[in-house]
Amino acid sequence: MIKPANPMGVTVLGSGSDGNAIVVQTPSEAILIDAGFSARELQRRLDEAGVDESLLTAILVTHEHVDHVRGLRVYAKRRNLPVYSNHLTAEGLRDRAHVNGAVRLFTTGSAFEIGEFRVDPFSIPHDAIDPVGFVIRWRDRRIGIATDLGHVSHLVCHHLRECDLLIVESNHDLTLLQNSSRPWALKQRIMGRHGHLSNDASMDLVRRVLHARTQHLILAHASQECNCYDLVHRHATKCLKELHRHDITPLVARQESVLPPVWL
Ligand SMILES: [Zn+2]
Ligand SMILES: [Zn+2]
Repeated sequence: MIKPANPMGVTVLGSGSDGNAIVVQTPSEAILIDAGFSARELQRRLDEAGVDESLLTAILVTHEHVDHVRGLRVYAKRRNLPVYSNHLTAEGLRDRAHVNGAVRLFTTGSAFEIGEFRVDPFSIPHDAIDPVGFVIRWRDRRIGIATDLGHVSHLVCHHLRECDLLIVESNHDLTLLQNSSRPWALKQRIMGRHGHLSNDASMDLVRRVLHARTQHLILAHASQECNCYDLVHRHATKCLKELHRHDITPLVARQESVLPPVWL
């Protein structure tokens, strides 16, 4: 992909139930959204993505589930990075020993600044203590991130509109989930209003929020057991075709590998 002058870069370092992390960077600074891989693996993936770790200024946490915070404590300490979360998530992180020192608190629903980034955390329906999605702005560019949500609320749609780039969950195929060997209770949890978005629900979200200014769509948190990357891609391609958005090529984030950076 061609890198424009003064770009804002977004790299999904990996996504799925075994680990999630995203880097958002500008020429002078970078922030991590979640640290769901071990510190060593995070470092390896950052290196592979060509991210200069010295540019990192913060780690933002969406929620306390281990696939989002596995490497948080060790990596934050190693790089001496401040951790940002809302109050309840911070308590959850402390209770589970995912952080050592102080957490910088933000209030869900109130925008705040980290360097040149403006961050807007918003509530998402998911079975964690107080989970959030983020809209991150830098200059005139705006990206929206919402993974781990059980249904598409008005609030989520409201925040994800008018983004240049969207990262949204496309977790499972309903039939594959229903036919899987997973215990009934787990299936109920995943399908519930505070679980994860199916491919169909994800496309519903895309239909509701895709804006004329949206140039990039990344589907994330795909289940390895109850979904397949090709299937997610096919769903997204069909949806974009129906919306006459031939200008957007959907990308599907992977668990095992780093997605090439998207430059805005
Ligand atoms: Zn979660
Ligand atoms: Zn997750």
